[in-house]
Amino acid sequence: MKTLVCAEPGRFLMADTRIPEPGPGQVLLKVRQVGVCGTDLHAFEGTQPYFSYPRILGHELGCKVADANGFSEFREGEAVTVIPYFACGDCIACRKGRPNCCVSLAVYGVHVDGGMREYIAVPASSVVSGGGLGTEALALVEPLAIGAHGVHRVGIVAGEDVLVVGAGPIGLGLMRFAALAGARIIALDVNRRRLDACRVLGVHDLIDGSSEDAEARIRELTVGRMPDVVIDATGNLQAIRTAFRYLSHAGRYLLVGLQKGEVSFSHPEFHKREATLMSSRNATRDDFERVLAAIRNGSVHPNDFITHRVGLEEAANLFPDWLNPASGVVKAMVHL
Ligand SMILES: [Zn+2]
Ligand SMILES: [Zn+2]
Repeated sequence: MKTLVCAEPGRFLMADTRIPEPGPGQVLLKVRQVGVCGTDLHAFEGTQPYFSYPRILGHELGCKVADANGFSEFREGEAVTVIPYFACGDCIACRKGRPNCCVSLAVYGVHVDGGMREYIAVPASSVVSGGGLGTEALALVEPLAIGAHGVHRVGIVAGEDVLVVGAGPIGLGLMRFAALAGARIIALDVNRRRLDACRVLGVHDLIDGSSEDAEARIRELTVGRMPDVVIDATGNLQAIRTAFRYLSHAGRYLLVGLQKGEVSFSHPEFHKREATLMSSRNATRDDFERVLAAIRNGSVHPNDFITHRVGLEEAANLFPDWLNPASGVVKAMVHL
């Protein structure tokens, strides 16, 4: 079967591998769509912290069940997605019901080989039934679940002002779920095309940090209060440091994006606000179910996020372009 392998940073190779046999506890899935995410692009670039090579990328999966391997909850041919975070089930985080930040977490397509191939064998416990959704929409559930998880974690309540820094696919998901929680959204990015993508989601308070005085605009839009919640979805050290000063007194700062360096900030500024600093990692099954429900009831539209549809070979050639935000890529879907 066709398998796209990231051989080393900057180089893909197309391999012919054997269709896996599902082991005990596993089901065999036919992969239909794989979403390309910032993690994949950074892995290809060689700037993702948790990577070793060679690696098969791909953790945003829309699949059909090829062999249910005796699991009666799945029908052959049924459309499903995969929760790509394999947790130990026994560590302090897992015992607290937070397997998304398991001490020994293995992320499919990151720490272990992922889904950019025609068939995969995965634990049945990681498979989520699509409940009538198509496989392309299902491949979008994981990145949206990251947004749903962040919004749930930071506890957004109706009427709050929420600033989302970074209007990539994760940022857009955060905006959508924050809006569904009743927040008023301000989007900040340094890329005009990315900001324009926010309009489809009904976000109209857009700040272009490359040409505008972001702090003054945020102050104006919040009538001097500043945002109750600031969310970083850039994973850019400079952006993360700068955004501390956009936070209201008694505000919460949520880091969803990830970068490699150390974050530092003014202690007096943090202290006087009595601010809360949180990180948000991955998502849980509840978040996946929340996203599935939101797509099914029409409050989230997959087509608002998908900008590119390509085949496996074409994807390999386009990765270098997609690293450049000027390419206008929000979410590229690889169709197998
Ligand atoms: Zn992803
Ligand atoms: Zn664990």
